[in-house]
Amino acid sequence: MKAEIITVGTELVTGQVLDTHSSYLSKQCRQLNIPVMYHTTVGDQREEMLSTFRLAASRSDLVIICGGLGPTWDDMSKEVLAESLGYTLVQDSGLVVLLERRFAARQIELTENNYRQTYVFPNGTIFPNPNGTAPGHLVEQDGTTYILLPGPPRELLPMFEDAVFPYLKQRFVPNEVIESQDLCFFGIGESKLEAEVQRLINQNEKLVAATYVSDAEVTLRLISHAKEKEQAQSQLEQTKLTILSHLGEYCFSEGKNRLEEVVVNALKMNGKTVAFAESCTGGLLAHLISSVPGSSAVLQGGFVLYTYQAKEAFLHVTPDWLAKEGAVSYSTAKRLAEEARDQFHSDYALSVTGVAGPEKSEDKPVGLVYVGLASQDDHTQVYQLKLQGMRQHIQLMAAKHALFNLQQ
Ligand code: ATP
Ligand code: MG
Repeated sequence: MKAEIITVGTELVTGQVLDTHSSYLSKQCRQLNIPVMYHTTVGDQREEMLSTFRLAASRSDLVIICGGLGPTWDDMSKEVLAESLGYTLVQDSGLVVLLERRFAARQIELTENNYRQTYVFPNGTIFPNPNGTAPGHLVEQDGTTYILLPGPPRELLPMFEDAVFPYLKQRFVPNEVIESQDLCFFGIGESKLEAEVQRLINQNEKLVAATYVSDAEVTLRLISHAKEKEQAQSQLEQTKLTILSHLGEYCFSEGKNRLEEVVVNALKMNGKTVAFAESCTGGLLAHLISSVPGSSAVLQGGFVLYTYQAKEAFLHVTPDWLAKEGAVSYSTAKRLAEEARDQFHSDYALSVTGVAGPEKSEDKPVGLVYVGLASQDDHTQVYQLKLQGMRQHIQLMAAKHALFNLQQ
């Protein structure tokens, strides 16, 4: 069994859009123990697409093609695949009705090229697309299965999860039960986490561990295969406990949550509120928290205090005090957090002050950040961070570190 993923689009080969589908689909195939042997990216050119599809047919049993299902004439994955397989596409009356209804409901004019999306493979099947007009397609020939998916992530991802993954599971691993569990980590790098996890699961073939990074958080997905559900579940549970007993200090969620969601949920559950005083993150903390639905129950407010004058006024300190202590310092972070707590009457307050770069400040190095955490008792904690990377990455890491400290 060999699988291949082909991404189609001139925007991909010119580097304007980063191909994230190949990595996503490979990870999904890995969950199913389907080995992906090739990733190919090809521009929207008929000749090159034809030879790419023919090469795939000659070497792979499963070919997943993404992109090029749109209504415009440069989108031609389906037509070129039909040509390479020697099929003539046929119009599907059900799709015509759906398309016309969709456009009528939105009062948008339906043009001739939109109807191209109502053509299907004569002996194929389609995957419905609730988020767009292009359905996915499935067609088989000479022992090779071809799956065509739309390019936009908001269409491809739900279609894959809801329809394609169950199909592949049923088709390629029908007698296995697959259970999965996500664990979210912060404060440990992806490669370190991966190495530790591999050591802990110790080449257990019935267990797959895949890591994904997003916004400085690393999600570990554990996938367990077994003949029986109970067996798959207990294998998963044991592995989870082993991993948590070694790496639990970095784990903030046993689900699919982002750090800010965990923080909002925990505060809500305990009936607590939070406020912020931010310098180098420029409001990012407040933004992250406010992006979580329901955050109004916990977020009191936040101050962005960028200049020395702003900090002096807010902290009720003299220019001399600030010059002596430094804006980027333990004592300033501490006072910022305590002032925010007192002025907003919140249960907790977080402060961030640091050097996001690219220039040094107060002779302090880029990446030096202090995070303050004030609570109702008088034991304000201050953490010193030494972060690396570009300005925006430092800001994001600083904000996430602050949230991580709060949720602990
Ligand atoms: P459309 O109707 O939007 O043209 P389509 O099925 O033809 O849909 P494409 O034109 O290939 O899809 O891609 C649409 C958009 O989806 C691209 O501009 C890009 O932003 C995103 N996209 C496409 N392929 C990928 C990919 N491999 N990885 C990440 N994003 C992608
Ligand atoms: Mg397109």
